[in-house]
Amino acid sequence: MRAVLSRALPAERVHIATDRFTEPFWQAARDRRLIAPRCADCGHFRLPPTPFCPECQSQNIDWTELSGRGSVFSFSVVRNIRGLDDDIVLVAAVVDLPDAPGARLISNVIDADPDSVRIGMELTVDFTPVADGWLLPVFRPLTPAREGEEGSTA
Ligand SMILES: [Zn+2]
Repeated sequence: MRAVLSRALPAERVHIATDRFTEPFWQAARDRRLIAPRCADCGHFRLPPTPFCPECQSQNIDWTELSGRGSVFSFSVVRNIRGLDDDIVLVAAVVDLPDAPGARLISNVIDADPDSVRIGMELTVDFTPVADGWLLPVFRPLTPAREGEEGSTA
């Protein structure tokens, strides 16, 4: 039996709020780019964005474009979500971003067999529509789920 693959929440269920500290992140996502704020004074990445650098208290930020690669730092499989179809499975994950050391995103892993998700699993970013025309960064396995399911005897 084919596994039910994880997916993102329906677009109309996700509303984002921007402020001057997070707006650049969301505008970039709309262009299908993943960026992270880096302290312009000490180089420390801070994600989610914060007004002050936790390392040096600077307010100066360089927005840095990332490759979109990630890996699972921690995750939880969420089933039977109130108001959604029973077959919708979410994988909520904290994602390490290797080219932004110290920065992590809370996101979803989509198109994954929930039973195959592991800590350290390699991911690549994708973008899914949410309310009001925004795009939300989500992650999918770097190795698509289908390959493993069909076996490697070919
Ligand atoms: Zn700093």
